[in-house]
Amino acid sequence: MALRKILTYPATDLKKPAQAVANIDGNINDLVTDLVETMYAAPGVGLAAPQVGAHARIIVLDVDHDNPGKNLIKLINPVIVEKEGSIVWEEGCLSVVDYTAEVRRAARVLVKGWTPDEQEIQIEADELLAVALQHEIDHLDGKLFIDRISRLKRDLYKRKVKKWLRDGVPLEAKKPAVSI
Ligand SMILES: [Zn+2]
Repeated sequence: MALRKILTYPATDLKKPAQAVANIDGNINDLVTDLVETMYAAPGVGLAAPQVGAHARIIVLDVDHDNPGKNLIKLINPVIVEKEGSIVWEEGCLSVVDYTAEVRRAARVLVKGWTPDEQEIQIEADELLAVALQHEIDHLDGKLFIDRISRLKRDLYKRKVKKWLRDGVPLEAKKPAVSI
């Protein structure tokens, strides 16, 4: 399998909503494997298919960096079916280089989806896993965490990226702090 290139803001592909997976075939399984490898290599606690330019509703997550693989989650067509409470978390993203910001999300979520071996599963989550699930599912809808912060903060970040691009700063070299 292969590591895929992670797109970074302002890549327009990140804004495209992903399509539901109609058939879990070999291509989808290859994509899932690549997403997992790319996530661990980055490293990040989550990765969504649109971040590598694939517009399929697939996310992978592993919030337990002390035991990589043990709590690996691979979800196809994930949907949030219940949410409650609220939590503020300092988020970062592999596709938003060199930036973190506090984002308010639901504190607990119940997410349903499919595994690559076609089992329907549901996941109850709180803390970082709840945040990461919501963050990754946002990617499937073409949304980044910077779309959930104040316009002022977002504009400051956008200006910073424009300046980096103007100055020829290679964005790939900028490591994100915390990466979901
Ligand atoms: Zn992200």
